[in-house]
Amino acid sequence: MARITIVGGGQSGLQLGIGLVRNGYDVTVVSDRTPEQIHDGRVTSSQCMFASALDNERALGIDFWDDTCPPVEGIGLAVPHPELPGEKAIDWGARLDRPAQSVDQRVKFPRWMEHFESLGGKLVFHSAGVDDMERYAADSDLLVVAAGKGDITRLFERDPQRSPFDRPMRALALTYVTGMTPRPEFSAVCFNIVPGVGEYFVFPALTTSGPCEIMVFEGVPGGPMDCWGDVTTPEQHLAKSKWILDTFMPWEGARCREVELTDANGILAGRFAPTVRKPVGVLPSGRPVLGMADAVLLNDPITGQGSNNASKGAAVYLRRILERGDGPFDAPWMQETFEQLWAYAGKVVGWTNALLLPPPPHVLNVLGAAGQFPAVAHRFANGFDNPPDFYDWFMDPAKADAYLAEVAAA
Ligand SMILES: Cc1cc2nc3c(=O)[nH]c(=O)nc-3n(C[C@H](O)[C@H](O)[C@H](O)COP(=O)(O)OP(=O)(O)OC[C@H]3O[C@@H](n4cnc5c(N)ncnc54)[C@H](O)[C@@H]3O)c2cc1C
Repeated sequence: MARITIVGGGQSGLQLGIGLVRNGYDVTVVSDRTPEQIHDGRVTSSQCMFASALDNERALGIDFWDDTCPPVEGIGLAVPHPELPGEKAIDWGARLDRPAQSVDQRVKFPRWMEHFESLGGKLVFHSAGVDDMERYAADSDLLVVAAGKGDITRLFERDPQRSPFDRPMRALALTYVTGMTPRPEFSAVCFNIVPGVGEYFVFPALTTSGPCEIMVFEGVPGGPMDCWGDVTTPEQHLAKSKWILDTFMPWEGARCREVELTDANGILAGRFAPTVRKPVGVLPSGRPVLGMADAVLLNDPITGQGSNNASKGAAVYLRRILERGDGPFDAPWMQETFEQLWAYAGKVVGWTNALLLPPPPHVLNVLGAAGQFPAVAHRFANGFDNPPDFYDWFMDPAKADAYLAEVAAA
């Protein structure tokens, strides 16, 4: 059986590693953080995953939190009224056909590491540099780089044709809290859009201490929600989070009168440019390596798709490796593997990037119509689990108008 090394023990690296050891491959995962460091470290994501991505985990028997993770049952959307302070111009919610889930990566990755080792996988702990990669590539039939936003991903050249932005499009922040007033009726990703200022979304999750809510802030750079520079303590981070809500979406602020941080590491602030890279990197020796998930497909979190893409990418890579049998994992095979994923992920990237720009009139029409027509709200909400569907209506003005006319007539 082939020997495969994966640099990066996160969503995609561990999922692929576990899939491969289950199929008898000799697999090593290299992680720059031990399970303890991950568990005791800072949060890295809000990691909301929709049903079809969770299915990949179920198929591998690594859905360890189905009974303990609070479900995310729907999607809600609110937009403040431009003239009436504190009022909403758009306000609707729709159920997902199947629930989503967010398991803190500090909970998930250590458990998956333990499971990977119990199946016979090898875990190595150090930060892999180019020299290490040369060693791993020489020793393995295939080297996959799944190092997320790690520096080592510079090995992969930026693809300008697939990367329309060359700078961060949002100032990002996360705040993990307990004590939030639940959304009535059903739990949801409560998505709030404040034109020109940014977006805020919040949903239930499972963290190291139990159930929590994760707040995600997406501030337009240079705007009033791009405000984390002077925050130096967890207490200030929580206070700033509440200030944003009370100022721009008071209905969300009202849910947060009693909130407390889950832990001092339940916060994050930063920014990065959404970037697609060429999937085949070439080491100084000339050996090719294959990039996976964020390493080559880094999306802004505005649509919550990174972990979903990572899971779907790992599933495609697993299938391709199994199909390859004894054949070589050469550069053309690597490129084709990525292209098979890109047929899906390219649409996720396009939809995500579209939402980072000011909404065109047809998008505002759709979001408004969803408040009037439950069928539109339902289709929009369930698109998070299948973003290519947006290309059949939402992404194109003529198709959006035709769809809204059809729904209105019905
Ligand atoms: C603020 C924010 C909110 C988000 N919210 C969501 C969401 O709601 N839904 C969603 O689907 N996605 C979300 N994401 C994105 C999601 O977390 C990532 O897309 C996903 O984790 C990527 O998986 P991965 O396998 O590529 O990398 P990761 O899961 O990041 O794993 C990479 C691992 O590689 C390790 N590593 C790095 N360099 C090296 C090295 N040189 N040697 C060894 N190991 C190394 C890292 O420490 C890490 O453990 C969010 C991201 C951010 C920043």
